[in-house]
Amino acid sequence: MKLSELGEFGFIERIRQAVAKAPGVVVGIGDDCAVLELPPGERLLTSTDLLIEDVHFRRAWTDMELLGRKSVSVNVSDIAAMGGTPRHLYLGLGIPAGFAIEDLDAFVAGFLAACADYGATLVGGDTCRSPGPLLISVTVEGTVPVDELVCRSGAQVGDAVYVSGTLGDSALALRRLQAGETPETAGRHHNPRARVELGRALASARIPSAMIDVSDGLLADLGHILEASVVGAEVDEAALPVSTSLRAALDSDSERIELALSGGEDYELLFTVSPEREAALAVLPEPVTRIGTIVHGSAGLAVKKRNGDLRPAALAGYNHFRQR
Ligand SMILES: [Mg+2]
Repeated sequence: MKLSELGEFGFIERIRQAVAKAPGVVVGIGDDCAVLELPPGERLLTSTDLLIEDVHFRRAWTDMELLGRKSVSVNVSDIAAMGGTPRHLYLGLGIPAGFAIEDLDAFVAGFLAACADYGATLVGGDTCRSPGPLLISVTVEGTVPVDELVCRSGAQVGDAVYVSGTLGDSALALRRLQAGETPETAGRHHNPRARVELGRALASARIPSAMIDVSDGLLADLGHILEASVVGAEVDEAALPVSTSLRAALDSDSERIELALSGGEDYELLFTVSPEREAALAVLPEPVTRIGTIVHGSAGLAVKKRNGDLRPAALAGYNHFRQR
């Protein structure tokens, strides 16, 4: 069936029926506005993201269900980065003419499954025809207890820099997909997992002085913390956590460490910790890795290479408006 046969309202009704009831959602899809109740004592966090076919994803390399999941995860990751709990999502779709309803159903199924995984609910959105590529606009709302909010601006000289998980796997997968291969780290690229539990554990234990999620690349996102906190940092290249797949790739070409430094789309949490709070890291549900130290702003951002050289880092994350 084509979307033109089902119609916009038929499509929305299909989605509405697939969304489970949730506490806190007084009125969900189907009225002029969603009506929502927030937990007492918590602040509202809101973030929005636009995914455009052939800019952010290629339909040939991904299936629609995983794309639905990823659309949720990359947004929820921003809530995790502030120490919050994701609650509500809004989905806007610009759909090319002739797009198969089966593909839309698969996208929505993946989207709703990911919402359920994170304990969040789709509460509204909009659809229209796109004259060009598929457009996906997602807005996420979360909440955080007033005294547990973590911003980018709190890093202090002497703080340690930590990151969760491993870095560079998504970028390694993308390079290999572009080369026509089937990479073993493809899951990190197609189906990233937002670090909500870890973000909550960090925030509720009041561990991070500043935090961000790694979406643009380690150095670019650390750069955002440094700018907001008006400090510098030294990152130890030898300390970067890498998977066995990237480790193997590094064995044949050590320059591939750039994938961990600047690759992007890792969706790990990058955070700073004062020396007094480092002992509290033991309460975390998973290990995290110390990769550097916050220094005075005049020192900027530098990477200590394996040979001991200190290399000033240009902020080389993904910039959509840069001429290539
Ligand atoms: Mg972010």
